[in-house]
Amino acid sequence: MRPDVLFPLFAEVTTLAGVGPRHGKLIAKLAGPRVVDLLWHLPSGLIDRRFAPKIAEAPADRIATITVTVGAHHPPRVKRQPYKVFCSDETGMIELIFFHARGDYLRKILPEGETRVISGRVEQFGGHIQMPHPDHIAPLSDIAGVKTVEPVYPLTEGLTHKPLAKAIREALARAPKLGEWLDAAFLKQQKWTDWHGALYGVHAPADEDALDPGHSRRSRLAYDELLANQLALALVRAHQKRLPGRALSGDGQLRERLTEALPYRLTSSQRRSVDEITADMAGAGRMLRLLQGDVGSGKTVVALYAMLVAVEAGGQGALMAPTEILARQHAAVLEPLAAAIGIRCAVLTGRDKGKTRDALLADTAAGAIDILVGTHALFQQSVEFADLRVAVVDEQHRFGVHQRLTLGAKGDGVHMLVMTATPIPRTLTLTAYGDMEVSRLTEKPAGRLPIETRALPLSRFDDVVGAVRRAIDEGAKVFWVCPMVEESETLDLAAVVDRQAELKELFGARVGLVHGRMKGAEKDAAMAAFAEGSVDLLVATTVIEVGIDVSEATVMVIEHAERFGLAQLHQLRGRIGRGERASTCLLLYAQPLGEAARGRIQIMRETDDGFRIAEEDLRLRGAGELLGTRQSGMPNFRLADLAVHGDLLAAARDDAKLVLDRDPELTGKRGEALRTLLYLFERDAAVKFLRSG
Ligand code: ADP
Ligand code: MG
Repeated sequence: MRPDVLFPLFAEVTTLAGVGPRHGKLIAKLAGPRVVDLLWHLPSGLIDRRFAPKIAEAPADRIATITVTVGAHHPPRVKRQPYKVFCSDETGMIELIFFHARGDYLRKILPEGETRVISGRVEQFGGHIQMPHPDHIAPLSDIAGVKTVEPVYPLTEGLTHKPLAKAIREALARAPKLGEWLDAAFLKQQKWTDWHGALYGVHAPADEDALDPGHSRRSRLAYDELLANQLALALVRAHQKRLPGRALSGDGQLRERLTEALPYRLTSSQRRSVDEITADMAGAGRMLRLLQGDVGSGKTVVALYAMLVAVEAGGQGALMAPTEILARQHAAVLEPLAAAIGIRCAVLTGRDKGKTRDALLADTAAGAIDILVGTHALFQQSVEFADLRVAVVDEQHRFGVHQRLTLGAKGDGVHMLVMTATPIPRTLTLTAYGDMEVSRLTEKPAGRLPIETRALPLSRFDDVVGAVRRAIDEGAKVFWVCPMVEESETLDLAAVVDRQAELKELFGARVGLVHGRMKGAEKDAAMAAFAEGSVDLLVATTVIEVGIDVSEATVMVIEHAERFGLAQLHQLRGRIGRGERASTCLLLYAQPLGEAARGRIQIMRETDDGFRIAEEDLRLRGAGELLGTRQSGMPNFRLADLAVHGDLLAAARDDAKLVLDRDPELTGKRGEALRTLLYLFERDAAVKFLRSG
């Protein structure tokens, strides 16, 4: 249960004074729906109103706070003119300028003959000193409240600074003092202030330095967030370690048969990974290993070796993929190999219904199926295994930690192998997986030809069409990827449908289409037509990003490559270059090309190494945007920026480990505070792993 002290922070923002439903919606869109989200909405700039010159000394184009005597009001004579109020001090005159003003209101706040403090940007206009729309107009008694440094927040359309800043002040007023969850010595060494002080501090930056993510108060908050993340992962991990594992070794016979049946030799990193996996499984604990490998690096066969260990020992293996197509593709690779070595492999997806499904479930429960491949359908309660020993989860970033654990619960001491084709920089691996063991496939299988990558402006569309036509005439298969149009799936769809129609005109009938709005069966049919030869050119959205294997495909055209992230471009390109023939990737971009996009395209041309691309991606973008964190299941940090706080992450990992060594149930004083921290950053799920949680 969430501690009571945090309740006010987890109320809707509309419970704050002055935040109505309209602003509530905008704030929810900008920062999030709850009060705590406003605390994490940090200033991106500041306005210094402490500069308080006399009128004659006020420089143009600078924010100034000036004490004036209000003079005459000059309402506009014709409509479009501004309302002017002349003010003065002993050094000169300043005109306050208001467009679309209400005279009665201005007369109330600027009564003639009285002293007022005004603050805003000073301008020179036709020899006059002016201040259009002062930000503040206050009586002299309030001067201290005006002469401050104001934070400037990122805004969204329809939400202006004043109501947002007020809402954030209200949110801050609700922030409770909380028990210190950081180690006292560490806190002192870092010279950090407490959480409450740091929070108030970041929202009241005194100078530009205070806006730097590396500034001490920002670092403190970032560390808190990273610590919550690492502690949560450590708890999940500790929980898994406590579960009894089942040492598995097998007699090696099936694996030997597989080695003989394979038409190729394993790469050395495949061999090393298989060794690491089998060693884990033979050990006393429960395997929890991440297999990272670029697209096409051959992860499936490594997974098969792992599953064979289970089968040799009389158990079963399961392999779960994020999509129907991928599940079937894995099955298509595994089934013939399974047949060759004399075991039974089957596939189960959401599409299997009725008798086939019943029979499959019965066979799985009876142990007649050795390896079951499927989608998340494998999580369902109706799926029972006779003796599941190893679960392989492919493309794990599409699944949550929770789902991973659910599959693990389908057997007794199930070993887990998680595969990801998205190369993740080391720092990110740590945030998503904690200190999970990692095997990496660092080389491509022998005989792969490098992909030639070229970049062309969209204005050379005709040349591209010519090149594609020649390639098709020579028997090539071509992927043609259209970009996502932000925030509109309908527009995306229109773009690909139009493109298909256009390309059909140019190339004749053999042009197919696949996009995310299609049903599973439709998508499969479109892919199958492409793979089997009745379609030469496949127009696609990024649905082909994950997995799809058409080894004959040798050309990939990516339209508006500048709109794609590096990781995404790399994933897409990985769809070609899988067969015997040389492949080409054409990146079409719109001009002018921005600096960041130019950088991404340059890296794509330079390298095909997914790990290097991932590191570059982190460098270019900052971790927040990486991988499209929201869909991917990667943690979405609000305060930490891994490009800046990478060192803090490592410290947080060590800290979390140490804490749990000393106080595994988090019952001590610091432990209690750490529980609150977990709730504060919504790592509630992890608290469940505490026995007394
Ligand atoms: P990914 O890592 O992207 O899942 P796959 O496991 O799908 O890669 O393998 C890609 C292709 O490479 C498959 O057709 C597979 O049969 C083949 N392959 C895997 N390992 C090797 C190897 N050592 N030598 C040659 N081909 C291999
Ligand atoms: Mg794969």
